[in-house]
Amino acid sequence: MAKFNHLMMNFFKMFILFILSTKVLSCYAQQKSSNSKIRDKKPIIQSRFNAYITDVKNDSNYAMLELKSIIPDLVYDLRYATTNNFTGKRIYPADLNTTFLRRTPALALRTINQELAKEGLKLKIFDAYRPYSATCRFWKLIKDERYVANPSKGSGHNRGIAIDLTLIDALTEEEIDMGTGFDHFSDTAHHSFSNLPKENLRNREKLKTIMEKNGFKALETEWWHYFWPNDKNYMIMDIPFRKLTALSSLE
Ligand SMILES: [Zn+2]
Repeated sequence: MAKFNHLMMNFFKMFILFILSTKVLSCYAQQKSSNSKIRDKKPIIQSRFNAYITDVKNDSNYAMLELKSIIPDLVYDLRYATTNNFTGKRIYPADLNTTFLRRTPALALRTINQELAKEGLKLKIFDAYRPYSATCRFWKLIKDERYVANPSKGSGHNRGIAIDLTLIDALTEEEIDMGTGFDHFSDTAHHSFSNLPKENLRNREKLKTIMEKNGFKALETEWWHYFWPNDKNYMIMDIPFRKLTALSSLE
């Protein structure tokens, strides 16, 4: 009987894995048919937790660090865990209170927050690591590369090397005025847009200067988005937040 139960459990596990892989593949397949130019560029997605652990054991730069665990005074406003985002839909688990970056950019972010503290400022985080299946969900809803990453390419967020953030007052936690809010998709959000009050331009410049000084790169079209160079061939990942969180709490 125990053997039968064991067999049934294995069958059930295989079935779940099959369903999950079909989901990811169907996101890609849908993409493939809609754009023939990228037909052969199927991204390699790391969705097996054990494969991620092996990578981390070989090189600790691949580790995904929970940001508040190394920078406790960060403020999180994880918009995709709410309906307060440009899709109007909740994409992440509603109770999400963790966000991750790979080790090197996470440590750079800690330095940045320490430097900002000297000026009475700190960082507010809107998003960082984004599981690949969430990118598929965005694509299903929006299907416009101006606003969301194309699943055939994946994104810096999927690789744990991109972050969306702004500056806030360290005491009041009020956002510093950047001229537009987060995920405002028009040329007003571009770094090159100059038709804004001088104070807004100065604030954007302050964020850009400190991020770039510490190794991040700016994205011209979104003042809130910064990314780390993909110097270690960081893979696209589809590992849920809860699994990464469980690991962080063991470290
Ligand atoms: Zn972003």
